[in-house]
Amino acid sequence: MDKVYLYKGTGYGESEMDALAEQIFAPYGGAAALTEGKTRVLVKPNLVTKKGIDTGATTHPAMLRAICKVLLGAGKEVWVAESHGGTYGDSAVRSQFDACGVTAALKDLPVKLCTEADSAFIDVPEGKKSKRFEVIKPVTQVDAIINLCKIKTHALTMFSGAAKNTFGTVPGLRKFELHACFPDYGDFTAMLNDLHLALPVVLNIADGILGMEGNGPTAGVPRSFGFVAVSRNAFLCDRVCLDLLGLDYATVPQTLDAIGRGLCPEAVGAECTDLSAEEYDSFRVKGVALPDSHPTGKISLVQRLLSLGGGRFVKRLKPRPVVDKKKCAACGKCAEYCPVGTIDMKKGRPRIVRDKCITCFCCQELCPFKAIYIKKSRILGI
Ligand code: SF4
Ligand code: SF4
Repeated sequence: MDKVYLYKGTGYGESEMDALAEQIFAPYGGAAALTEGKTRVLVKPNLVTKKGIDTGATTHPAMLRAICKVLLGAGKEVWVAESHGGTYGDSAVRSQFDACGVTAALKDLPVKLCTEADSAFIDVPEGKKSKRFEVIKPVTQVDAIINLCKIKTHALTMFSGAAKNTFGTVPGLRKFELHACFPDYGDFTAMLNDLHLALPVVLNIADGILGMEGNGPTAGVPRSFGFVAVSRNAFLCDRVCLDLLGLDYATVPQTLDAIGRGLCPEAVGAECTDLSAEEYDSFRVKGVALPDSHPTGKISLVQRLLSLGGGRFVKRLKPRPVVDKKKCAACGKCAEYCPVGTIDMKKGRPRIVRDKCITCFCCQELCPFKAIYIKKSRILGI
């Protein structure tokens, strides 16, 4: 059975990262053994936003550098590729690498930064929700992928870890088309699992040395979870992270779908690791803040009664995005990226038309000024 290997960490100093990177590959016999027979290895970080590394939103360049060094030492041709949340074009990708500190961190290493914004299709005949994906071309040109993600709570999917990180292989605005195609959270996250399974990921490294809590993946609060989780199985990795963060997996549709497909167990604990129960418990983190969209679990009688009206009333009372006029800089990005075009820039200011909103929270994720917040209903407690 796959295992999850857990490592404690408090910072991103170079020597600490170098030692950690060696440790990460050690249970697999080293990077050369893990990638045996594979020449070209791509590292897929999380560069969702241009916010600073102290926000916990993006992969720390020091960790990316240390992983690349170990792979280079194993004789691999190393590529780094990512498509962030905005437009996918050569200059946008280059600028994202620059802003996230990746270009500077890798400048003296023979690593290829994939800045040519090109895409290709992969067929997934066994996909449950989608049988074909458009992805960034580099992921179709390599023999293996190292999935280097951040551990965060997430306004739409509730949790973002290993299995969610591979959504960054879908080119730029194509992501928003997928949001529009799969407005139901369950369908959307099952589609994410189809995508993850279609990619040649050989290892998942989930970094929570500095993660994010609250309204992730970009507008939350940085939080030191103090550990890194590593596994060949992304779904098991995520399930263990949820357990250690005290988050209810039943509110995470992507994990529920994985459990339903037999991709990871429902119950996890020290037995999924190489640790004793006591050692495993020492990784637990208390009081992790949930996103404002998180269900409280209070499926009240009132809510059930309101559902009888075809869910119309409940839809009106679901958590929804609201623009904070004081913070809004009228940049128009939310209107540009809304997958269903339900944000008008009236008189230069965004106005969200609620009826068409599919509550994907892309606008909240992409607003550079944290000017969109999630408003919860006090009536239903959802
Ligand atoms: S993205 Fe944010 S700052 Fe820009 S218009 Fe929308 S709410 Fe305002
Ligand atoms: S308004 Fe925001 S939450 Fe609603 S569909 Fe558009 S991007 Fe998604």
